[in-house]
Order: sequence, then structure tokens, then C-alpha cells
Amino acid sequence: MKKNIIILFVLLHQSFFAQSQTKIIDMHIHSYTDSDFGDREPSQDYYGKKGSKDAESHRIETFAAFEKFNIVKAMVSGNPESVENWVAKDDDHRIIRGILMFSPNDHEMDSVKFEQMVKDKKIEVFGETAPYYGGTTLSDSIWQPYLRICEKYDIPVAVHTGGGDPGGTYSWSPKARLKLGDPYLIEDVLVKYPKLRIYMMHAGGEDWPEHAIRLMAYYPQLYTDLAVMLWVEPNTQRYVKEFLQNIKEAGYLNRVMFGSDQMTWPYAIEKSINFLNSLDFLTEQDKEDIFYNNAARFLKLKE
Ligand SMILES: [Zn+2]
Repeated sequence: MKKNIIILFVLLHQSFFAQSQTKIIDMHIHSYTDSDFGDREPSQDYYGKKGSKDAESHRIETFAAFEKFNIVKAMVSGNPESVENWVAKDDDHRIIRGILMFSPNDHEMDSVKFEQMVKDKKIEVFGETAPYYGGTTLSDSIWQPYLRICEKYDIPVAVHTGGGDPGGTYSWSPKARLKLGDPYLIEDVLVKYPKLRIYMMHAGGEDWPEHAIRLMAYYPQLYTDLAVMLWVEPNTQRYVKEFLQNIKEAGYLNRVMFGSDQMTWPYAIEKSINFLNSLDFLTEQDKEDIFYNNAARFLKLKE
């Protein structure tokens, strides 16, 4: 009898929790195949936590987090094969197809192939584009054919801002230079393609949070996600907390979107959600906007 009461209580509690839990859109999820799993990430994160065992366990663990935290949409970027593999297993239609590009010719891409993929709905968001890692910026001429196509078909662009992993320049991304992560370097893109839907990833990082805010002030169409800043190190959490306080005060919080940037560590999704929820200066409404409403507006989601 007593046991039954406890079970009933647990069930009631769970259903109440499920109902009251905010819907979430994660604007920054990474997918892999075994061919690139762990190529760019260390085996342990800053806290000593190991990443998933392989690409398939990583997908399963990430999908479990979608389920657990009511993540109803996720912008997934990775190599095209990994994204299609995730879509094939995504019975709940959560995945928005992105593509990870460091250089314009990654995945043997060119503008003809790109336009066809856009037409075939194989690319729904152009990103994560991370010219930083490939030694360029999105304003460079080599990226322009892609951006013209994105503007033409109203495909949102997601661009890495801020630095990358400390030490990465000595290992997997020799062309990465800190200065290439400055949000101001995408200003020409904003000027040239005023109708382009575009968001910064990582909100300028620890390096240029103030540039991210000022760029959003000058260009009212520009959004940002928070991404890896929410969890990867205590130092990034310190910066993103300040960023959120400042952007709230500046009045542009309605263009800030949640993203977890879990990379090979699916547990980071939960950690990012908990960190954002722990910030007292954000109201419940602010949190709902960051978790869902701002991204729904940016993505033009139909209910
Ligand atoms: Zn990322």
C-alpha cells in the first residue's frame, strides 16, 4: 500500500513537471559519423568528463536529452551524412538540418551543389559556418555565393563568433586566429544582405561580448545563440552571465536564443539548461523567450 502511494506520488510529480517544463529549441547541436567523431574534441572536457563512446551512442544520448528536456526542435550541424542519419532516426521531427563548414569547399561543396541541397531541403540552416577555424571571415569573397543563395531562399545563416578551443591552432585548426572571431567582421555581410536571416553563435565568446551587443544594436535583424558559453568552463559562464545582464539592460534580450553546443558531451545539454535556469536576474518570461519564443520567431516556426 505504502509503496503504491509512493509510486502514485512519483507519477503525479513527473506529469506535473512535464507539463510545467518549458518547451525548448536548441539552436546549436552537433552531429557526427564515426569518420569525424572526436577528431576536433579532446577525450575529456574541462571538468574531466569523457565524451560519448562513438557517434551512434552520442546520437542516442543526445536524442535522450531532447526527450528529457522537451527539446522540440534542434538545429543540428555536422557533416551531411551525419545530419541525414539523425533525420532518418528522428521520429518526432525535431531536427532542423544544418551543415558544419569551416571552409567553403568542405564536403566537396560548391555553390551549385549547395543550391541543389537547399532546394532539396537538405540544408535548412547554413551553419554552423565557422570561417574562424579555416582562417577566413564570412565577409570574404569566397563565402559570397553561398550567402546570395541563402538570401534568395530565405535560409538562415549561423556563424561562429569568438575564439575557439584554446590550443586548437596548434593542433586541428592551424589557420584559426583569435582576431577572426570578432563579430564586427560580419558587418559587411549584414550590410550586403539586409534580408538575410542570420545569428551569431556563442555571442562573441569571452572575447567580444560587447561587440556582439553593439552589432545587434546597429542591425536589428541580427540574433545570437549562447551555446558553449553556458557550460564549457567556469570562465565562459562568468562571461555569458555578464553578457545576459548587459544585453537585458540594453534591451535586446528578445534576440537571444538558447543553444547548448554539446559537441561530444551530451550531458552538456542538461548542464546548459540548468545554468540558464539558475540565473536569478532573468524572469520566467525572459527564460521562456530564450529557451523557445525568440528562436521560434527567428525560424518562422508555425505552431
Ligand atoms: Zn558549435
